[in-house]
Formats: sequence, structure tokens, C-alpha cells
Amino acid sequence: MTDHLVPRMRSFGTTIFASMSALAAERGAINLGQGFPDTDGPPEVLEAAVRAIRSGHNQYPPGRGIAPLRQAIATHQQHHYGLAYDPDTQVLVTAGATEALTAAILALCDLGDEVVVLEPTYDSYTAAIVMARAVPRPVRLRHPSDTESAYRLDEDDLRAVLTERTRLVVVNTPHNPTGHVLTDAELDIVARVAVEHDLLVLTDEVYEHLLFDGRTHRPLATWPGMFERTVQVSSAGKTFSTTGWKIGWVCSTPELVTAVTTTKQFLTYVSGGPFQWAVAEGLALPDERFAQLGARMQAQRDLLVPGLVSAGMAVHPSEGTYFVTADIAPLGYHDAVDFCWRLPDLCGVVAVPSSVFYADPAGVGSLVRFAFCKRPEVLTEAAERLAGLSDR
Ligand SMILES: *Cc1c(COP(=O)(O)O)cnc(C)c1O
Repeated sequence: MTDHLVPRMRSFGTTIFASMSALAAERGAINLGQGFPDTDGPPEVLEAAVRAIRSGHNQYPPGRGIAPLRQAIATHQQHHYGLAYDPDTQVLVTAGATEALTAAILALCDLGDEVVVLEPTYDSYTAAIVMARAVPRPVRLRHPSDTESAYRLDEDDLRAVLTERTRLVVVNTPHNPTGHVLTDAELDIVARVAVEHDLLVLTDEVYEHLLFDGRTHRPLATWPGMFERTVQVSSAGKTFSTTGWKIGWVCSTPELVTAVTTTKQFLTYVSGGPFQWAVAEGLALPDERFAQLGARMQAQRDLLVPGLVSAGMAVHPSEGTYFVTADIAPLGYHDAVDFCWRLPDLCGVVAVPSSVFYADPAGVGSLVRFAFCKRPEVLTEAAERLAGLSDR
């Protein structure tokens, strides 16, 4: 059979997430693989979308997004982080964070430019970098160990992947798939290196409201010397449990936003008209509503993790996001890909092997990512099923 796909995209075939979701459906297993919530977010945000459709907001919105949403994004940035963006020149609404990230990479990276990504890496970054004919340069987060309780970005590791072709650093915090929230010390490292080497930084902050145990999100754009070199990306999908709406945004300097708008306009032009109105209302919710969303996700984490511990796994702490990583080696399993294919039969649960987030999975073959963005009763059931693994 002829493979019509250009060679550089051939390693991006059907994602493991689609395969595992299909497996979960086929076996009737609990799907803790793909990271989508099984309940809707705040009812007032859902109602705002219904109202927007009924009141006729159903045609192409303006290219940069409707003015009330751009204003709401700017107000949210000012209110939560003290960041001042002009809604007319420094904010761009996109088809989710995915389009924002892809448009930014296509706008900023040329043939042979090198892009540093934290590894494990969210899959769309690498695909976008390859589409731009640029080159991904992964820097692996150090794993939790006996001496360290969390993942950690090491300064020497970051410096070691830099070359004279390095153009951009992509930073995701809170981090998918590990659930790590980069500390101020780690963000200091990125800022220091970016300023020293005059690099642009693309930040993926889609989990900005889902941090646990009293942590607070601090955008890298607030660091000295970073505002003018940072392209900040976020999205409403994860915050409001509306991943199907695909409303994301970019905030940066007028020059960088104009650059990203140039590529973005030929990817989708615009999207999600009525949902833009709803997200504008959602971003203006009072602080305690955002705190509730984070607290609820933390409670869901705390339903699942005991099941993983009872199963005998070594659980890496999840500090934010929808996800937790666990090591199955203590259970006597060493190949997480094989383990995840068998997990529906072993105990009626689906998860994804962390190796899919690495260019070279040496040393991470026994790590598994579990999603806890599910209803409490589903997580309780999953935890019970997983705990039963230790009896085998
Ligand atoms: C879900 C996710 C995205 C994609 O966000 P959309 O708004 O759905 O496009 C981007 N980055 C990370 C880390 C994610 O987990």
C-alpha cells in the first residue's frame, strides 16, 4: 500500500489516546486514559452558550475574537496575575490551545530552527514543530527519586540542549502528563536561560486554575525580562470542563500577537462564535468559583491515588492538572505499553503508558498516566478495581 503521508509526519499515526479510548469502549472499562471530564463545568457558563446561540451569535466572529472575550481575557490576566495586555492588540482568540500553540510555532519557527520542549512532552508540540520543519530538542524532567519528591527541571540539562539554532522554548506548567507544577526556582532557570540566549518562550498554561495543595499559578511572563519574549497560551477547555468547545487564546506583545495571527487566520480563520460569548462570562466568575474548580479536581485526585497505592504502584505526586503518573515496576510489571493493553482485562480500567510522551523512552518504560477528571463514583470504582491488582 502506498503511504501518501509525507515522511516527516509518519510517526504521528493514530494516537494511543484514540486506541485506548476505543479499547475502553469495547471492553466497557473505566477510561482513565484520555483527559476529558465526564461532567459539565459551571452551569452559568453552559447557560451563557445557550443564550448566545439563541440570541443570534452564530456567524463568523471577528478574526481576533469577539471584543467582550478579548476584554475578559485581558481583565482575567490583570486580576489573577497583574499582567497588563491591551485587548485590541495583545490578545488573540484561537481554536483551543492546540491551534494557539501550532500557529505560534508555525509563525515563529523556520526550517531547521530548534525548539526546546520539556519531556515528557504533550504530543501536539512535536507535531507542530515537525510541520514547521523545525527540530524538537527535548529536555527531560528529572524523575522523582528517593531524594526528590517531585519532577524537576535541571539547569544543566536545559543548557545542554541549546545550540546556535535554538529559537524557542516551550514550557507547560502545570505539566501534562506528570502533574508537576514548576517551582519558582525552575521558572527562574527558564527565564535566566531565555534572557541570556535571547530566546522566545511559548507557555502552555491550560491548567492554570487546576493546582493543588495550596499552590498558585505564576505565569512566566511575570518574570523580569520575560514579558516581551513570552507568548502565553491558555484555553477554557480544562478550566470549565468544556474541552469540546475549543476556545483558547494567545497573549503577548503586539508584534508577537500579530505574527501568530498571520498563521492562525489560515488555519481556521475563526471558530466557536457562541462559545466565545460564554467563555467571556466564565472568565469573569468570582475567585471562589475558580478555587472550587481546583478544589474539586484535587478531591478527585485524592479518590484515585489511594487505589494506585493499594495496587502497589509507586505514585509520583500530582501537584496540578487532570493527571497522575505511577510506576508499575513495584508490581512486577516493566512494560507499561503491554500493561496498559492488558489492564482492561486485568481490572476493567484503561490508562496510557507514559512512554508515548518521550522521544526516547529509555528508563521510563514502567510509567503509566492516569486521568482523574472523572465523577467521584467513577473514581471510587476505579480505585477499588485497581486496588485488586495487588491480589494477583
Ligand atoms: C488539553 C491540552 C491542550 C489542548 O487544549 P485545547 O484547548 O483543547 O486545544 C494543550 N496543552 C495541554 C498541556 C493540554 O493538556
